Amino acid sequence: MAAKLRNCISCGKIFSSLYGEKMCPSCKEAQDRLENSVIDYVRDHPKTRIPEIVKETGANDLIIRRLMEAGRLVGANLNFPCKKCGKPITRGQFCDACAKEIEAEVQNVSDKAAAARAAAERGRGMHSKDTGKRGDGK
Ligand SMILES: [Zn+2]
Ligand SMILES: [Zn+2]
Repeated sequence: MAAKLRNCISCGKIFSSLYGEKMCPSCKEAQDRLENSVIDYVRDHPKTRIPEIVKETGANDLIIRRLMEAGRLVGANLNFPCKKCGKPITRGQFCDACAKEIEAEVQNVSDKAAAARAAAERGRGMHSKDTGKRGDGK
């Protein structure tokens, strides 16, 4: 597949994106370095806090959070708010309770969708006359 030219989301420079990368190679490299320094810092300072990591490594909290969500900063005594209820969590995007709730909601939605599909299947043919124009008003 041909490379596509696109703007780096970090520095705005145009670069050729071979695999759909969103950053130019130099920004990607800088980010990798930053991520590694965060990982190293947290490994060396397990009791650190996010503001301290930001101060010491220059990484912003988005990078730190992404690393945490990816499970790359486990073992550290870090937490950040659940995206749903704000309760402090140490990895992933949601606390256990919200994760279960979301799972149940997703299940519920797909159950409803399945029920709707089944109803549509049953309804097909039986009410075909109803699909014609309604003769109300002029
Ligand atoms: Zn760049
Ligand atoms: Zn929650």
